[in-house]
Amino acid sequence: MKIAILSGKGGTGKTTLSVNLFSSLEKATLIDTDVEEPNSHLFLKGTTYHEELIYKRYPVVNHDLCTLCGKCGEFCNFNAIIPAKKRVLVFDDLCHDCGGCKLVCPTNAISYTDKEIGNIYYQSIKKNKQFLYGKLTVGEISGVRIIEHLKNMTKKEEILLIDSPPGTSCSTVAAIEDTDYCIIAAEPTPFGLSDMRMVVELLRSQKLNFGVVVNKSNLGNTDIYHYLDEEGIELLETIEFREEFARIIARGDLLVNQSTYVKEKMFNIIKKVLGDSYA
Ligand code: SF4
Ligand code: SF4
Repeated sequence: MKIAILSGKGGTGKTTLSVNLFSSLEKATLIDTDVEEPNSHLFLKGTTYHEELIYKRYPVVNHDLCTLCGKCGEFCNFNAIIPAKKRVLVFDDLCHDCGGCKLVCPTNAISYTDKEIGNIYYQSIKKNKQFLYGKLTVGEISGVRIIEHLKNMTKKEEILLIDSPPGTSCSTVAAIEDTDYCIIAAEPTPFGLSDMRMVVELLRSQKLNFGVVVNKSNLGNTDIYHYLDEEGIELLETIEFREEFARIIARGDLLVNQSTYVKEKMFNIIKKVLGDSYA
């Protein structure tokens, strides 16, 4: 079963929820797909035993063969290849590596070259527990390829947790694609509700099952609960804010190791999403 944990914005406790759920399971794999700013590893403190470089391809034009027919530019949806007056310009940062421009080029003027865009790290946590995370190279604009690699490497795992990028970007879509269930981490504030609505729209457009965990439930207001009620969205759990939690998180420690309250909350969520046998 593939379960994504996502949020409308950063700072709503998405990673805290991911690592504490992961730590509450006997057997599971966690991937941190928030490749622009991965931080699950700061809590799990596993031993990195392997690192893999991730590349993307982008087109290179042989100007001797190019007739400036314009077909590559017409095909590209991302303005990554633009036939100008005297030569074809390639913007590799914008290229999504779809391969289309090479296919449509009538003179075989286009070939591809590789560019390093980031890394994937594997960490061993303990028996039956694996953790992988991706890191996008500074300056690169899309982590989708790294996310696809992470998901491909773990597609056969029995229980896969996916710490997704925040928001509703292409990276989030790549992270939640083909999941069986999504858990939205939200906060009971006006901004928290507004950001969560966008995530709800995204998940509904993708026809994915989901529920919500409200963090810092003793702060803010009750609008979020009315919204969940009206929309028929499952409230999986509420988790209070406590100062001691903030201190534990700031130290990079796991809440489940130090709070029976949070431990019970994690088991309740696991029971609701995965069933009694996993809690
Ligand atoms: S590979 Fe695809 S995205 Fe990249 S330049 Fe060619 S058509 Fe555009
Ligand atoms: S499709 Fe090929 S020949 Fe036409 S402009 Fe692009 S690179 Fe040049």
